[in-house]
Amino acid sequence: MIPVAAGHIRVEVEAAVCAEPELAALEAGAAAGQAPAPGGAAVGRVIEAGEGAGELAGARVLVAPLQPCGECDRCRRGATAACPSRVALGVTGPGALSGRIDARARWALRLDGGLELPGPLAALVAREAADAYALCARAGLGAGDRAQVVGGGPVAALARQVLRARGVREVAGEAGDAADQAMAIVCAGGDPPALASAIARSCPGALVVLLARGGGEAALAGLPAERLAGLLAGGGAVAGVPGAHPDLLPEVAALAARGELDLAAVAEVWRPEGEPLADPAALASRARGALEAGRALVVELGRAD
Ligand SMILES: [Zn+2]
Repeated sequence: MIPVAAGHIRVEVEAAVCAEPELAALEAGAAAGQAPAPGGAAVGRVIEAGEGAGELAGARVLVAPLQPCGECDRCRRGATAACPSRVALGVTGPGALSGRIDARARWALRLDGGLELPGPLAALVAREAADAYALCARAGLGAGDRAQVVGGGPVAALARQVLRARGVREVAGEAGDAADQAMAIVCAGGDPPALASAIARSCPGALVVLLARGGGEAALAGLPAERLAGLLAGGGAVAGVPGAHPDLLPEVAALAARGELDLAAVAEVWRPEGEPLADPAALASRARGALEAGRALVVELGRAD
């Protein structure tokens, strides 16, 4: 086996999320060996630590999909999703559904000292909950503010939980009574109809926050131009969130540890008999079924010791 690079850790995966990005990769033939095994979010145990990462040896950790270098010009300007030397789990290397991953040690979150998060659902904190949190943070709302959440998937459901925990009121947001109009629309679907629908429902001056996990051109097709112009003319904006920065993980894990996130409500846990990628079509079908029910499939590959 290749030794772990300096500053990296090798993690034996306990549980991995199989949601929209993994489903897209499976449908594109990732499991046929044409691309790395999918799996962008995981909880697992460090089985090997590279130079400079020894303090994580043996720890149970969360590993998030996007791991920027943290030092280049783009990272320093906060554009970490565009870091040229980022590690993207399941894209630049084997993903978590392969059962074993290498990741940057600096972003791995150690699950101890109050952040234990027992069980496979912890994997959701690394991406779905973190993305929901990042969307809400970008929307910048506080107690008493009004928001609308667009999307039927697990990130949308978690965003609703995060907003509720902050005292933000969710409104229907249809045109009409000004007191019922959303100051921000959190668009967690990421797909083009979701953005178009968010803009169509926006009032002038609103902030539309969109989860934009890579790609993006498709999200700009079919937008209602007149409503978008109205939104912008009123001082509003459309902001993209390319997934959570990994330094948000401790805050999100703390929310989950305090019981403020109901992860079980947005998950379907599956414990496969053998390798989950042995039958990619069956895995894809299971992941699709879960997403259609508004849940993320969490694949339990092993048990925490
Ligand atoms: Zn960088």
